[in-house]
Amino acid sequence: MNEMRHVTVIGAGTMGNGIAHVFAQQGFRVVLTDIRQDFIDRGMGAIAANLDRQVRKGVVTAEQKQSTLAAISTTTDLTSAAASADLVIEAATENLAVKSGIFTTLDAAAPQGAILASNTSSLSITALAAVTRRPDRVIGMHFMNPVPVMKLVEVVRGLGTSDETAAAICSLCTALGKTPVEVNDYPGFVANRILLPMLNEAMYCVMEGVATPESIDTVMKLGMNHPMGPLALADLIGLDVCLSIMTVLQEGLGDAKYRPCPLLKKMVAAGRLGRKTGQGFYLYPKA
Ligand code: NAD
Repeated sequence: MNEMRHVTVIGAGTMGNGIAHVFAQQGFRVVLTDIRQDFIDRGMGAIAANLDRQVRKGVVTAEQKQSTLAAISTTTDLTSAAASADLVIEAATENLAVKSGIFTTLDAAAPQGAILASNTSSLSITALAAVTRRPDRVIGMHFMNPVPVMKLVEVVRGLGTSDETAAAICSLCTALGKTPVEVNDYPGFVANRILLPMLNEAMYCVMEGVATPESIDTVMKLGMNHPMGPLALADLIGLDVCLSIMTVLQEGLGDAKYRPCPLLKKMVAAGRLGRKTGQGFYLYPKA
C-alpha cells in the first residue's frame, strides 16, 4: 500500500484543488474531477495562481510549477477518474447524501485494493464506509485550509478502518511533508469539536452585545496569541460551513452546549456567509 502513486481527488473547490496541488507537487499522478468543466477550470486556475505565489516566494521554481501542473489530469467522469487510483480523496460538498452517492460509485469504480478517503470536516467516516464493501479501506484525511500551507492532517479512523490502512495513510502524509494525527470517528473529530464551539461562543458575544466583532477578535489575538480572531476566522471558513458543523455537533452529541448561535443562523439565512459573499461579521469589498 505504500506504493501509492495514483491519486484521484473528487471536487475541485477550495480543498480539492489544494489537495491536488500538494500531491502533484510531491510527484504523484493526480486526477482531479468535479461535476462541471467550469468548476474544474476554476480549480486549475487556483492551483496555477497558488503555484505562482510559491514561485514568487522562492518556494518552487518555474520548472517545478510546470511539472506540478503537468502531473494533474482532469475529467468530469467520476467512474473513469477512479479506475486506476491507488487512493481516492473525496473533497466534495459537505453533505452526507452527496458523499454517500460518491462513495457508492467509488466502491464500484476504484480498484479493489484502493483506499477511499474523505476530507469531510465533520461527517461520519463510519457512515460513509457503510455504503461500501471495503470499510477496512475507508478513512478520513482531514486537511486544513489552505492545504499547501497547513501542516496538519487529522487522520480519522472509522469503526472498521484497518490498522494497515491507517498506517499507510499516516506514512503517506509524512511523505507529503504533513503531520498526521490519528483520531477516532466522533462528530467534529478533534479540530472542529474544539474550534467551532469557540467560534460559536464569539458569535454569542456579538449577539448579546458583550463587545464588537473587532474587540472580540482583538481580545483573542492579543490575549490568547491566536493568529486570527474567531470572527475573522468564521468569515474565512464560511458561516454556512460553521452552521453545518455546529448542527452536526448538536445532533451527534446531543448536548445543549453545541446549539448554533441564533445570530449565526440569521446571518446564514440572510446570505451573509463571510468572505465568499463579501459580507459576514466584516465587510469584504471586491478588489
Ligand atoms: P467547495 O464548495 O469549495 O468545493 C466543493 C466542490 O465539490 C465543488 O466544486 C462542487 O462542485 C464539488 N462537488 C459537489 N458534488 C460533487 C460530485 N458529486 N462529484 C464531484 N464533485 C462534486 O468546498 P470545500 O470548502 O472545498 O470543502 C470540501 C470538503 O472539504 C467538505 O467536506 C468540507 O467540509 C471539507 N473541508 C473544508 C475546509 C475549508 O476550510 N473550506 C477545511 C477542511 C475540510
